[in-house]
Amino acid sequence: MVRNFFIGGNWKMNGSIAEAKKLVEMLNGFEVPANTEVVVAPPALYIDRVHQGLKKEIKVAAQNAYLKASGAYTGEISPQMLKDMGLEWVVLGHSERREYFHESDELVGKKTAFALEAGLSVIACIGEKLEEREANITNDVVARQMKAIAAEIKDWTNVVVAYEPVWAIGTGKVASPEQAQDVHQFLREWLAENVSAKAAEETRILYGGSVNGGNCKTLGAKPDIDGFLANNVSRSVHALINTIDIV
Ligand code: PGA
Repeated sequence: MVRNFFIGGNWKMNGSIAEAKKLVEMLNGFEVPANTEVVVAPPALYIDRVHQGLKKEIKVAAQNAYLKASGAYTGEISPQMLKDMGLEWVVLGHSERREYFHESDELVGKKTAFALEAGLSVIACIGEKLEEREANITNDVVARQMKAIAAEIKDWTNVVVAYEPVWAIGTGKVASPEQAQDVHQFLREWLAENVSAKAAEETRILYGGSVNGGNCKTLGAKPDIDGFLANNVSRSVHALINTIDIV
């Protein structure tokens, strides 16, 4: 398997300095399994603290970045600034950004290209809403989201795709391993047809949406599921522990 397993922790807008400290200690206490990449995404304010505290094998991501290097964009952070802080990763296109901050497919594609050009690796999030799944258009939706990214980038080497069905995020309703595998397989075929055989073979496709210590093993055992994006860090740590058997 050319694809190293990937575990991402998306902290969202949660936590405090004290909690960050505890999580850093907890993460530092775990051995990262061989052939596994671990990346955590704290809120922007805590990034530096977490980054300074974590052992080097665990990487830190921002949860968002803008598509300009600098300028009059109040409230935004640029990929160049993240690089300046020594970060390697950014999460883009999370469904919460799409929903609450009106980020379009096109914007996510452009942000992905800009972050890659700045030298970051990108966790690009996609996924369908409940009504879209119920209307049987899941594949159309994720293909549309992938197309918007593919329109802006040629090289997928530094992209990890996170398939996160919106109805499964934070709801406790995890996609079944079969439901997730079906979409992951579709995405890999989509990459083969629309990008390259290499991109299909090498791009990690993560599953996100109510992943926990109990369900991550069967999900992670599916051939096209290359890791997880889980909300709180302790859940991703559970996934990490259980992953030791998967990789
Ligand atoms: P969840 O969130 O683990 O709470 O479902 C995952 C995510 O939004 O990345």
